[in-house]
Amino acid sequence: MNVISDPKFSDPKNLSPGNDNPAAALGPHELDAAPGILSIDLDAIAANWSSLDSRAVPAECAAVIKADAYGCGLTPVTRRLAAAGCKTFFVATLDEARQARNAARQATIYVLDGFFSNCGDVFAALDCRPVIGDLTELAEWDAFRRNSGWRGPAAIQIDTGMNRLGLTIPEAQGLVPLAQKGGGEIALVMSHLSSAEDLHQASNARQLEAFREIASQFSGVRTSLANSSGIFLGPQFQFDMVRPGAALYGVNPTPEADSPMRPVVHLKARVAQIRSVEKGASVGYNGLWTARRPTKLAIVTAGYADGYFRAGSGIDGTRSADAIVAGQRCQIAGRISMDLIAIDITEVPPGALRRGQFVTLIGDGITVDELAHHFGTIGYEVLTSLGQRFARVYRGEAT
Ligand SMILES: *Cc1c(COP(=O)(O)O)cnc(C)c1O
Repeated sequence: MNVISDPKFSDPKNLSPGNDNPAAALGPHELDAAPGILSIDLDAIAANWSSLDSRAVPAECAAVIKADAYGCGLTPVTRRLAAAGCKTFFVATLDEARQARNAARQATIYVLDGFFSNCGDVFAALDCRPVIGDLTELAEWDAFRRNSGWRGPAAIQIDTGMNRLGLTIPEAQGLVPLAQKGGGEIALVMSHLSSAEDLHQASNARQLEAFREIASQFSGVRTSLANSSGIFLGPQFQFDMVRPGAALYGVNPTPEADSPMRPVVHLKARVAQIRSVEKGASVGYNGLWTARRPTKLAIVTAGYADGYFRAGSGIDGTRSADAIVAGQRCQIAGRISMDLIAIDITEVPPGALRRGQFVTLIGDGITVDELAHHFGTIGYEVLTSLGQRFARVYRGEAT
């Protein structure tokens, strides 16, 4: 297998034509010079959305696109999901809402960070809806609506045990009469699960019961509880709308089983140098890796500044993250630096890898979840840390 594993991704014809896309400005020469290539498969994101949508029927399947669509690119992801039929999007910030609105003119957009009293005009201009989780915030939103005449609705977030954002249950109960009065002030009642990926957590059933009880009092208002993993806890968790994020981008929502999602991200980094070291030589900062045989190393141009966490380093006596070189899994030698990683390629046949070629850091069997395990974190953090120095190549863009 050639180290350039997917020719589709290195073909400049597949580069994005979109204006908001950083890859749009890339010509073949820039791709030639890129320290790494991050390929994002929008078809896979759309397929993941469709499979979650089918699983959640009759509930609506929204999409969470906060944090630049988990590092995958908010604009191309939103355009692609809107083309696939997604009608409701959740962002964290108003700036993200602006990008989402530009990408999906007709969509319903919720802002998870909620409302601040100086932002009313922006909510109206973007026609987006705050997710309100505090009574003062609700009063500010009401005041804005009264003073401006804006009639757009909001979502209410109710805390059912996570103690992050959200009204307490008694506070929410106090709003029931307002909701009954109609007028569309409250379009959605939602809560968030704290441990949905853990099937054995008693808190899932507790949160479900608490939410079912309070949500049923808001008759005629749509309801939403499940994130990605929550969808897989069963239909009783799906209510009127589900809000997957991570699973869309290929993170496994069912960590105790094989992933039902298609991988989305492929990352390869370039070989800057191939070198040989003697048995007994040490590699990298602080010399924490020792060659136990005459060793061949590939030094590749990615590092912790690119989101390849230092915790994946190869230190004597520990297991490092893997890279795929010429089809073979190889280990990291020594500490991961800011911009460079040394990979032990002793087992790779001579001539199979040359300077200037690429090795795979994510993809071809290395999942985001596997890498997260080596980094001591979760796939979410791996995705949202993906560096800005990589050339980005999108596949399957909406036209
Ligand atoms: C981020 C977020 C989601 C999406 O969660 P995933 O686990 O990524 O599917 C859903 N709802 C809320 C309130 C969130 O903050």
